[in-house]
Amino acid sequence: MNTQDYIKREDKYGAHNYHPLPVVLERGEGPFVWDVEGKRYFDFLSAYSAVNQGHCHPKIIKALTDQASILTLTSRAFYNSVLGEYEEYITKYFKYDKVLPMNSGAEADETALKLCRKWAYKKKGIKENHAKIIACEGNFHGRTISIISMSTDPDARNDYGPFTPGYIIIPYNDLNALKNALKDPDVAGFLVEPIQGEAGVYVPDEGYLKKAWDLCKEKNVLFIADEVQTGIARTGKLLACDHEGVRPDILILGKALSGGVLPVSAVLADDEIMLTIKPGEHGSTFGGNPIACKVAIAALEVIKNEKLAENAERLGEIFRDEFKNIKSEMIEMVRGKGLLNAVVIKPKNGKEAWDVCLAMKEKGVIAKPTHGHIIRFAPPLIITEAQLMEAIKLIKEAFKLFE
Ligand code: PLP
Repeated sequence: MNTQDYIKREDKYGAHNYHPLPVVLERGEGPFVWDVEGKRYFDFLSAYSAVNQGHCHPKIIKALTDQASILTLTSRAFYNSVLGEYEEYITKYFKYDKVLPMNSGAEADETALKLCRKWAYKKKGIKENHAKIIACEGNFHGRTISIISMSTDPDARNDYGPFTPGYIIIPYNDLNALKNALKDPDVAGFLVEPIQGEAGVYVPDEGYLKKAWDLCKEKNVLFIADEVQTGIARTGKLLACDHEGVRPDILILGKALSGGVLPVSAVLADDEIMLTIKPGEHGSTFGGNPIACKVAIAALEVIKNEKLAENAERLGEIFRDEFKNIKSEMIEMVRGKGLLNAVVIKPKNGKEAWDVCLAMKEKGVIAKPTHGHIIRFAPPLIITEAQLMEAIKLIKEAFKLFE
């Protein structure tokens, strides 16, 4: 089968809920992936920042395969010998009292919303069914009905109503709007992405997160950080909130928590919040399964042992500097932190971000446009400086094709 055969088969039998770049991948190692024709690419998407540790990291794969032949799933109806080890490891790692394990990022976000509401009724004293959560325009927290109920993206929402009530939507990076919204005494939480990834890597003003945290504290409102995309070294610190010394009341993690090996997500909080959920009130059959636990420990060890946050910080600076030097009328702006960056594309002669991505693919670098005119560049964090420079050379050649 060739590339077109694979694409046609997916098209015929799969739902059309994605519009992939026309490349069919069959193998990955470190920062590279290979397509079914044997061509090698630099992966500059990293599965939306899930593969921070690089494709098929040997330590993570060993943890996966070792555990897979011992015990895979018990459900939470019974204890297992691995979950406690993971819970101790991850809570000490991120310095929280407790963790609640889930699978996908959306589920972890749902969990955080439920936890916040529960805390609102059990601790803050908000009248039953009155709790509200503030979210930001342009947010992306997943695809469930409750989550898209706070989305402002028509593609995410259209024809999926009726929506879940209880949200207040304010502009991102707007402290006055937050201050006003916080006047409502029924507000229980403020859910925010430290950098809006899916929206196109919108980096808020310096100090925004810290001031937002302060405003929440004044009103006894939980600061909930969705670090599913920004967390786990991607932006040059372990958490993007670390750039401003902010410790979220509820921390949401996913994606790179497994190094892209299987769906592993988590919600972290201290006892005062986490213990408001009692047995039977929330859960997941697969959440906290033994394989996920071992994989997550290995994935987090790799982040520390290989100093991936430091690498992301250093190489991110180089990436943005190099990009600023590219002379192309199509590059309107470069922004980002660490190795989470985006280039805003100005269409030229009918050519758009999608065409640039196709040209990059031909040169051997794969990335994907978001919202039509923005290309996100997020290679695995294990990429070396020499590899990054080689990839940038290929990206420059791709942009030259449009001159
Ligand atoms: N939250 C953020 C910030 C994300 O970027 C994403 C996915 O891109 C999610 C949540 C949803 O994660 P998942 O696709 O694993 O449900």
